[in-house]
Amino acid sequence: MEFVVQKYGGTSVGSLDRIKLVADHVAATRAQGVNVVVVVSAMGEKTDELIAMARTLSADPPRREVDMLLTSGERVSMALLSIALYERGLKSVSLTGSQSGILTDENHGNARIEKILGDRIRRGLADDSIVIVAGFQGVSPKTKEVTTLGRGGSDLSAVALASVLGAVRCELYKDVEGVFTADPRIVPGARKIDSLPWYAMTEMAWAGAEVLHARAAHVASRFGLSVEIRSSFKTDLRGTIVKPTTETDIAMSIDKNGIEQAMVHTITCKHHMCMFEVEVAGDGAEDRASKIHAGILEFLWHQGEAPGINQRIGEMLRFMISENSATALRAAFADGRMGAQPKSVHVNLAGTSAVAVIGNGFLQGPEKVNQALAAAQSVGRVLFWDIRNQVLTIGVSDGEATAVVNALHEALVC
Ligand code: ADP
Ligand code: ASP
Ligand code: MG
Repeated sequence: MEFVVQKYGGTSVGSLDRIKLVADHVAATRAQGVNVVVVVSAMGEKTDELIAMARTLSADPPRREVDMLLTSGERVSMALLSIALYERGLKSVSLTGSQSGILTDENHGNARIEKILGDRIRRGLADDSIVIVAGFQGVSPKTKEVTTLGRGGSDLSAVALASVLGAVRCELYKDVEGVFTADPRIVPGARKIDSLPWYAMTEMAWAGAEVLHARAAHVASRFGLSVEIRSSFKTDLRGTIVKPTTETDIAMSIDKNGIEQAMVHTITCKHHMCMFEVEVAGDGAEDRASKIHAGILEFLWHQGEAPGINQRIGEMLRFMISENSATALRAAFADGRMGAQPKSVHVNLAGTSAVAVIGNGFLQGPEKVNQALAAAQSVGRVLFWDIRNQVLTIGVSDGEATAVVNALHEALVC
């Protein structure tokens, strides 16, 4: 039987009443003659609460134990949902990431999925059961330890399962009605987008739009999967379809924007960023700069972060990263964990927000860039700007970010 993957985020399973509503919706889907693989997040803010508990006991809790702790959150949701389905007379089975055969590397806290076996999921489906999988977790075949995939990683579990197991649809249920032209909590006039190509969604996700996990966007676009992001509160509403670009999309976009005209899809923003700068000097500086650069990128990957700006000019390295990563990186340099030593390490522009204009064709002409900079300058002070791929990034102080996002939305998207 065909099956769909439905993922329910923390707010969607945030209470027993919400879990009952999820069970009703899963039951209604099942009644349409398709089976369901459900991926669940931990209830509400459970993951944050568990992290806070661990930090109360230790400033630097062992990463293995943190993963053991955090994976319990999703386990609670999956078992409760299975019980709610049982109460509705439906056959279901809940499985942890490890039981589902989600195999990862051994990087606790930010593990990468290497393979999905999925035998027990297939068996469950063949047995006509609804299968509920705990999101955000897997197991390392090398260490045999339970791992987590990084914050917000249930999106990634869902998309990877749908891709590998061949679901007919993948639906991500959230506390918003879809993907908007900006975070609707920041820009009240933001519009819901009916459909969006993966390149734009991927850039948005890396630029900080938490509506979809960035690595989930990569996996979905690699597999050519279509995903619908929709509301778990208003289940009759269509959401946003994120999909590979089709010829019709291209034709429609050309009609609307012209062949070479730059276009803007969305505005998004990351707060509490800074510029991390490293200077290397002395004998063999070039070689050491290369090693240090590679070491920093690897360190950031383990932190779950991809730098917004990532430059090496001669022996100067510059990265736009979160203040948290900068603090961790500075400590790693100070205690010798980074290997090769630089001449100096500086953190500049702390308290910066990186406001990203996600579009296409910025390099075809200066109009959109100039328009964006003028809009930002009308309400804030531009600290730096940068264009990479389909993204124009404008740095402003955290305090000015909301006004700047709104001004850019007004000028470029409305
Ligand atoms: P879940 O935990 O249910 O997977 P998230 O909380 O991670 O969902 O993502 C939904 C949140 O993403 C929304 O509450 C919204 O504030 C935020 N968000 C940021 N940018 C956007 C955007 N462009 N469109 C919609 N939501 C956005
Ligand atoms: N519960 C995890 C988190 O809060 C995973 C997720 O919700 O996707 O990060
Ligand atoms: Mg999320």
